[in-house]
Amino acid sequence: MSKYPKIKLPLPGPKARKIIERDHALLSPSFTRSYPLVAHRAKGVWIEDPDGNIFLDFTAGIAVTSTGHCHPKVVQAIKKQADKLLHMSGTDFYYTSQIELAERLAKLAPGKFKKRVFFTNSGAEAVEAAFKLARYATKREKMISFFGAFHGRTFGALSLTGSKIKQRENFGSLVPGVHHVGYGNCYHCPYNLTYPECKLDCVDYIEHTLFKRIVPPEEVAAIIVEPIQGEGGYVVPPPGWHQRLRALTKKYGILLIADEVQAGMGRTGKMFAIEHWGVEPDIIVTAKGIASGLPLGAMIARKDLMIWKPGAHASTFGGNPVACAAALATLDLLESKLIKNAQVTGDYLKKKLTDLAKRFPAIGDVRGLGLMVGIEIVKDRSVKTPNPVLRDKIIDLAFSRGLLLLGCGETGIRFCPPLIVKKKEVDIAVRILETCFEKAHV
Ligand code: PLP
Repeated sequence: MSKYPKIKLPLPGPKARKIIERDHALLSPSFTRSYPLVAHRAKGVWIEDPDGNIFLDFTAGIAVTSTGHCHPKVVQAIKKQADKLLHMSGTDFYYTSQIELAERLAKLAPGKFKKRVFFTNSGAEAVEAAFKLARYATKREKMISFFGAFHGRTFGALSLTGSKIKQRENFGSLVPGVHHVGYGNCYHCPYNLTYPECKLDCVDYIEHTLFKRIVPPEEVAAIIVEPIQGEGGYVVPPPGWHQRLRALTKKYGILLIADEVQAGMGRTGKMFAIEHWGVEPDIIVTAKGIASGLPLGAMIARKDLMIWKPGAHASTFGGNPVACAAALATLDLLESKLIKNAQVTGDYLKKKLTDLAKRFPAIGDVRGLGLMVGIEIVKDRSVKTPNPVLRDKIIDLAFSRGLLLLGCGETGIRFCPPLIVKKKEVDIAVRILETCFEKAHV
């Protein structure tokens, strides 16, 4: 496959168009596709559509293909496991790949305490498991989550989500007992304050307002937090923010759940993003990048919390042996060099985008850690007015030039390429992006 985007306009080409017509006739219209990419085959950071067009993938299939598309070591592990055992369900039976993966994750997750692991098929299910375990273990009902958070679309996970109204409207009552508060988003401070003069008032608000007026702290089972908000706009909270939250939860015997579904598995330059703040959550949920594209999620919890009885929670497919084998191969690759690459190449990407922002005032902010990098598109930098129309236009232009990007938040663009991405591929991506801003006359 080419090492440079190769596009024959107009897109979609004739073959892709036919596939899209078939899809539109039958598949759910609830998906959020913003441009017509049909993925035919892929290798590394490159995707080919059925018409032979070649795209540079800075989406990793929504931050999933951490080791690149079809990494030979992951494919080999999948094939080997598929020849041996496809399924037997860890709910009722035993097999080694699931145990081996649990052992690795328990060792890798922050916290010297003993842990237990529960496997799922997706991020939302891992969040559900954490929500249920938090209630079960503490016998408390209430949960605190953040505006801008995305935790998934099943009812429990959706109740914790505070991202976009269209994700909630028309679905009726959600799980009761969830309260949302402002996140540590210094670019758009929910309380209109400025860091560090604010002294992290957004965390203190939970104690000084929420706990005094609305929610008795002794009824709160857990606070769930994304170390870096993903769908909410790739928002990195300020130094000290997660530590303050951890101190607050400890003070009131509240569990801290880190949702690492998007930020975890090496993407930010550490295995788990919360490690950047040196915080040890009671429960971690992860999915997406864990198995390079096979459906797998995990909840890793303090051992003393997993007191639920047989039958209390389970999943037929969770911890599928082939997905676990893919995850084990993924972990090998992450540990051997990809986490390091996420840090080094991520810094390089951030610097290139910061340079680009000097030329184009429409780029209001550049932020992120490792290869979880976002830019925010604004009408006016001084007042940070969102410009989602321009954001969508830039993403469309990038697609027509062979660069795959995704939006995030109200007006952000995220850069979450596979963690194998090289500096020269970053150069290509940023050069294409530059031509998009030039074309859009901003
Ligand atoms: N949590 C976070 C932080 C996510 O970003 C997502 C998905 O984007 C989820 C949970 C839900 O994961 P899934 O789509 O696998 O259910």
